[in-house]
Amino acid sequence: TMSPRKPQVVLYPSPGMGHLVSMIELGKLFAARGLAVTVALVDSPHDTSATGPFLAGVSAANPDISFHRLPQVKLLGSEPPEMLTFEVVRLSNPHLRDFLAGDTPAVIVLDFFCGAAINVATELRIPAYFFCTSGAQILAFLLHLAVLHGKSTRSFREMGQELVHAPGITSFPATHAIQRLMDRDSAPYKAFLNMSTNMFRSQGIIVNTFRSLEPRAMDTIVAGLCAPSGLRTPPVYCIGPLIKSEEVGVKRGDECLAWLDTQPKGSVVFLSFGSLGRFSAKQTRKVAAGLEASGQRFLWVVRSPPSDNSSKNSEKLPEPDLDALLPQGFLERTQGRGLVVKSWAPQRDVLAHDAVGCFVTHCGWNSVLESVMAGVPMLAWPLYAEQLMNAVFLEKEMELAVTMKGYDKEVVKAEEVAKKVRWMMDSDGGRVLRERTLAVMRRAKEALLEGGESEATLAGLVDAWIRA
Ligand code: UDP
Repeated sequence: TMSPRKPQVVLYPSPGMGHLVSMIELGKLFAARGLAVTVALVDSPHDTSATGPFLAGVSAANPDISFHRLPQVKLLGSEPPEMLTFEVVRLSNPHLRDFLAGDTPAVIVLDFFCGAAINVATELRIPAYFFCTSGAQILAFLLHLAVLHGKSTRSFREMGQELVHAPGITSFPATHAIQRLMDRDSAPYKAFLNMSTNMFRSQGIIVNTFRSLEPRAMDTIVAGLCAPSGLRTPPVYCIGPLIKSEEVGVKRGDECLAWLDTQPKGSVVFLSFGSLGRFSAKQTRKVAAGLEASGQRFLWVVRSPPSDNSSKNSEKLPEPDLDALLPQGFLERTQGRGLVVKSWAPQRDVLAHDAVGCFVTHCGWNSVLESVMAGVPMLAWPLYAEQLMNAVFLEKEMELAVTMKGYDKEVVKAEEVAKKVRWMMDSDGGRVLRERTLAVMRRAKEALLEGGESEATLAGLVDAWIRA
């Protein structure tokens, strides 16, 4: 007898590391539940020295997921860097249409930045879902964007420190909105507004969070209170936290973990700033001075500072020259209690290591979830994208972090680094934060167990697709 053909789902991630990681995990869950999973990939317009090996490792380790590279598209070369992803996706629409029309899947799941593909899905009558790789509070804001737009004639940048109020989320200074939204006349702003509208055309929105982490935002979204009037909010599915289940394609991974093995439990401050975070040479020296003054143990991922024309973020990251970058004698003086790694660390495994006691993070959502899943309290130092909003939510709403003062000024001072690190590692306040994070970790893990809130949500969604 022939077994019935598995329903097929196509995942369409955007090519950045922070977007690939969780979409791949979602794919693994779909495959485990009996769907045939294909990941359609566009060429990354950015540095792929991290994502290249990652994707190679993932595809080798997951034979039940297929990968399909769409043909390369031709960019003009004059696109602003913050439009590159949107443009690659838009220009890939004809290729995506050819691919989907060949073997029409039951469902397509789109990354936020791939919203332009909803036109292809509509044309081919393929049910389209969005996947939000950030949290429900960011989703609440995005769903409300058109309303905020209509309420004001000023850009977020002009509003400055004025608070932005949106249903279901903590108010935040306008300068902290998603960084690409600062100028309301810019191309990326328009692209985000489009994305927001497109979400209301979808069959549903899948979010990488668990409901009880962000209950206020979730209730508000589900009640339809974020939507512009006249638009119905599609169903929202919290299926997370999904974090990468294995470290693949990481050089030097063992060095970090072997060093952590020699450190006391809960004693190490881990500093890492996402796949793109970089500090000026001056800021790097201040972090070094702060860590040295703190007297704490640390594991620090150091990158080379951005070159003068830092807008070229597609440029490949050169390895940092630590002797030139760090204060003289720093490495010798901190030997034994500190380890500096160049460019990249196996972050998930580092956070999960017993020796780590605190995470200084740029608040990218994957980093936040990896920290939560490891029960490690966070010191928030947001840099780009939606991270400044995340930092506000983490500190004021979820109460899982304290922020490093000065992140929105020219530099964070060495004294501030030393003070906050010490507070976190060695104060009653720090201990309370750690306990709270551990409690949230336990709830996160429960959400993923069979019958847990996220597991049940995912099961229900996939069953509905299989029955359809
Ligand atoms: N990451 C890593 N090592 C590093 C820096 C980042 O493994 O040195 C991983 C991290 O574990 C996370 C992802 O890269 O899974 C970054 O995603 P996030 O959403 O935190 O930030 P983004 O890179 O999108 O700003």
